[in-house]
Amino acid sequence: MDILYNSTRDSHLKLTASQAILKGLSDDGGLFVPDHIPSLDKSFEELKNMDYRQVAYEVMKLFFTDFTEEELKSCINNAYDSKFDCEDIVPVTYADGAYYLELFHGKTIAFKDMALSILPHLMTTAAKKNNMKDEIVILTATSGDTGKAALAGFADVPGTRIVVFYPKYGVSPVQEKQMVTQRGANTRVIGIEGNFDDAQSGVKAMFNNKELAAAMKAAGFVFSSANSINIGRLIPQVCYYVYAYSRLLLDDCIKDGEKINVVVPTGNFGNILAAYYAKLMGTPINKLICASNTNKVLYDFFTTKTYDKNRDFVVTSSPSMDILISSNLERLIYKICGNDASETAKLMESLKKDGAYTITDEMAAGLSDFVSGYATADETAAAIRRLYDNTGYIIDTHTAVAAKVYEDYKKQSGDETPTIIASTASPYKFLRSVLSAIDEKYDSRTDFELIDILKELSMTEIPQAIEDIRTAPVLHDIVCPTEDMQKQVEKYLGIQ
Ligand SMILES: *Cc1c(COP(=O)(O)O)cnc(C)c1O
Repeated sequence: MDILYNSTRDSHLKLTASQAILKGLSDDGGLFVPDHIPSLDKSFEELKNMDYRQVAYEVMKLFFTDFTEEELKSCINNAYDSKFDCEDIVPVTYADGAYYLELFHGKTIAFKDMALSILPHLMTTAAKKNNMKDEIVILTATSGDTGKAALAGFADVPGTRIVVFYPKYGVSPVQEKQMVTQRGANTRVIGIEGNFDDAQSGVKAMFNNKELAAAMKAAGFVFSSANSINIGRLIPQVCYYVYAYSRLLLDDCIKDGEKINVVVPTGNFGNILAAYYAKLMGTPINKLICASNTNKVLYDFFTTKTYDKNRDFVVTSSPSMDILISSNLERLIYKICGNDASETAKLMESLKKDGAYTITDEMAAGLSDFVSGYATADETAAAIRRLYDNTGYIIDTHTAVAAKVYEDYKKQSGDETPTIIASTASPYKFLRSVLSAIDEKYDSRTDFELIDILKELSMTEIPQAIEDIRTAPVLHDIVCPTEDMQKQVEKYLGIQ
C-alpha cells in the first residue's frame, strides 16, 4: 500500500515520500510523518542472510513507496559503499554486557553519516521525479556532527548548495576543524555567536519566511533541510536497528523473536525515534532507553510529563547532545495524542511561546515503551574509564552517556534483556575528553599526540577523517551574530 506523508500540524496534508523529502519541513511548521507505519514483509530468518544494503532496501521500500526499485537501490548503493571503512557498514561489538552498534564507520566518523550519505541521493532523485528545476539550497543547523556529515554528503552534488550554521563556541575542536576545512564550490560554513538552539531556531525562521521563499524562487532557488526533521534522514536510520537485530540473530546471540532493548544517546530525538519505528515495524524491541546528558529536558519530560526548556543550557563533553529543543519529539507527540494535528500544534505553540508544555495522562500512557535516564560529565568519564579498564574497548563521550544510563537502568530494574547501545561517534572525534577520562596524564598532550595515543590504546586504525584534518587548510572563517543568519544566506545566494 502506498504511504503518504501528513504534517504533524495538518493531518489532511498528503505528500508523496519524494515531495516530503524535498520540502523537509511542512509550511505549517510541522514535521512530515508517514500516514501509517508499515510492517516488515520479510522475516528475520530471511533478513539475517542479507547484507546492509539489502536490509536497507527492505526497510526503505516500505516507506518511500513512490521511488522505483531501481531508483532506491541506486541511492542505497551510492550511499553505503567504500566511503565506509568496513564491509559490514555497521559492525556490532560486544563489551561488558552490551552490544555496541557502531554507527561511526562513515566519512565523518559519527552516526549522522548513516543518513546523510544517502539523503543527497534521495533528494536529487526526488527532484528529478517531481520535475523540479530550482537549485536546492540545504540549510542546516548543527550541534557539530550533522554539519560535517551534510557537507560531506552534498559537496559538489550538482543542483545543490549547502549552508551550515554551527555554534562558534559550542563544538569540539575536531568538529570545528572538520567543518571549516570542507571543500566543494557549493558549500558555506558559518559560525554563529549563539548556541545550537539559536542556530536551529534561526534556520526554522528562514524556512517559515514566505518573503524569503519568494525572493529565492525568483532567483531559481528552493530551500530544503538536511536536519533530522527531514523524513529522508529519519527512515534510513530505521534500517540499522532492523539490521542489528538480524546480526544478533545470525550470530546466535538471540533466538528469533527474542526481545532486545535499545539504548540511544539522545539529543534531537531522531535516532531513538528511528528505533521506535523499527519496533513498530515488527522488530522485537522491548524497551527504548533514552539517555540524556546534563541537558536533561527529555529525562524530565518522561518522568514529569512536562517538557520545559526554560533552564540553563550546559556545554558538556557530549556536545552533539547539548540540545534543549528536541525537534523530533514532535513526531512522537503527534502519535501519542492519536494523530491529532491541532492538539500537536497547540502544544508546539506553547513550547514556542512559554518554552514548555504538559501532556495529558492519556498521552503519557502512550510512552510506556520508553525509559529514560541521564548522566553527568563526571559519570560519563567514569563510564569510559571503567569500560576501558574492564575490556580495553574505548567508546566516545556520547556513547558513554548511554552506557552509564544503561548500567543504572539494569541495576534498578534487574532487566537482563540483551541490549544494544547505539554507538554514535568514533572516540577519535572526541579524543581529548575520551583520553582525559582514561587518564589525567594525557591532559598536557597536544591533539596530534592524542591521536597516536588513542591508536595505541584502542588498537584501531586512525580513521581517514582524522588523517584529513591534520593537513587540510581552513577554507571557511565567517562568524556572525544570530540575528544575521538570514543576511548571510542572502549574501551567499546573491539575493540581497
Ligand atoms: C547527533 C548525535 C547524537 C544525538 O542524536 P539525535 O538523533 O539528535 O537524538 C548523539 N551522538 C552523536 C555523536 C551525535 O552526533
